[in-house]
Amino acid sequence: MTKVKKYWQNYINGNWVDALEGGRIDIENPAEGAIIAEVARATSQDVDSAVTAARACFNSRVLYDMRPTNRGQLMFEVARHLTEMANDIALTECLDNGKTLAGGKNEALAAARYFTYYGGLADKLEGRMIPLGADYIDYTIPTPYGVSAQIVPWNFPLQIAARSVACALATANTLVLKSPELSPLSTYYIAEACHRAGVPAGAVNILCGYGHDCGAALVTHPDIDHIVFTGSVATGQSILRAAADRVIPCVMELGGKSAGVLFEDADIDQAVNSTASGIFSHAGQICSAQSRLIVPERLHNEVIDKLAAKAKSLSVGPGIDGHDLTPVISAAQADKIEGMCLAAVQAGATAVTGGRKRENLAGHFIDATIFNDVTPDMSIAREEVFGPVLAVLTYSDPEEAIALANGTDYGLCAGVYTKDLATAHWAADRLVAGQVFVNEWFAGGIETPFGGMKRSGYGREKGQEALHNYVQTKNVGIRITGGGGGRPGG
Ligand code: NAD
Repeated sequence: MTKVKKYWQNYINGNWVDALEGGRIDIENPAEGAIIAEVARATSQDVDSAVTAARACFNSRVLYDMRPTNRGQLMFEVARHLTEMANDIALTECLDNGKTLAGGKNEALAAARYFTYYGGLADKLEGRMIPLGADYIDYTIPTPYGVSAQIVPWNFPLQIAARSVACALATANTLVLKSPELSPLSTYYIAEACHRAGVPAGAVNILCGYGHDCGAALVTHPDIDHIVFTGSVATGQSILRAAADRVIPCVMELGGKSAGVLFEDADIDQAVNSTASGIFSHAGQICSAQSRLIVPERLHNEVIDKLAAKAKSLSVGPGIDGHDLTPVISAAQADKIEGMCLAAVQAGATAVTGGRKRENLAGHFIDATIFNDVTPDMSIAREEVFGPVLAVLTYSDPEEAIALANGTDYGLCAGVYTKDLATAHWAADRLVAGQVFVNEWFAGGIETPFGGMKRSGYGREKGQEALHNYVQTKNVGIRITGGGGGRPGG
């Protein structure tokens, strides 16, 4: 059996350390249901020492006083080390998270790209000069908040950690990142890359613990200045309550129930392939997954048949063996998904394919699932499943299609399938979502701003927009003369 390192420590103040209370968390390979490693279990004491280290580093101004282009160079070094470790990261992510080796490698290379992308922007975040006449000079300074607390989910732990760590470093914040207890291992490679690159001790601290103690201790710590949270709506709401007590700014990247709208003129095969990739990649454990498809009544049967054929063609099994449909993260998650599928059937939906756990495999697998006869009031049409489960709804006119797409509490992503640019723009303009994909689900990249509307959150990660979440504007107004416009002797 392929192995990873057995025991992983936390990274605090430039050192690899055990948890102060000595606890550990077992890490399971979801494709086999077997324990593969342990991580040091951080609790409030470890959080405190990490925040103290981050505060001391921030107060030292070592990052802030550095010429921004040099901060960028430091980040390029982090990217170089991540790239050098890409094969190790791929294997780790495959065993810890269930991804394919290609998917794990993509995590590593995307993480490296975040450091080069934001490293390249470190010296381009500029203030502005505001004209106030001859007696004043006035300018703004984009100022870091201080210590950023970052909380990451388990589905893409490395990429999601990298995007917020890179933004924080580019803007001279320091940070404490809590990795997800279900799949933390790959995030430690960021710490290792920062260590090798010579990022100052205390600037980046990465620890793992449970949400209810370590996560809660971090977001309520009196010495943090900023929170970046990626995860579920319920956890986000509890973090926002904690942040409200101290009036701390938050970036909230929450869940989704994103819909693709297929128009009459669409290339149906393209739409079916895109939809399958949008919902079955990484077993649907993607916040921006296409979990709903809205089709015209006239094309409904054809689309369902093609989707079902596609779903049935997917091989199910461990990512390390290169299967198409890889495991979900845990037994509890598999139970939850199956429970939602059973509830959908009870509510009157029809499972054209899937809907059940794969009992003949050791790990946590759910078959590719397509629900037909879905009505907009059903839970399966409204609630995030976070599994390989697609709900298909029908419409009779385009306005109704848009209303259906917008008819949930979420607003993370949306999609349009059409050959007509005017239709694409008409729909994109009306869809309430932070990101709209036309004819290819997941079109976009690190360069494109990503984030939610409605309960999917606020603030943006990725793209140049993200950097603005990590700085606050300071205005400096200077009276330069006693009057007379500064004329010497005036
Ligand atoms: P989750 O909310 O259960 O956990 C996310 C993180 O929060 C974990 O690290 C967890 O330990 C921590 N946490 C839990 N309780 C906490 C508390 N009280 N205080 C502080 N931290 C706490 O979510 P999850 O199950 O890990 O991830 C799945 C969810 O994340 C889905 O809803 C998905 O849509 C969302 N997600 C969103 C994005 C995005 O960019 N919008 C990306 C990935 C995942």
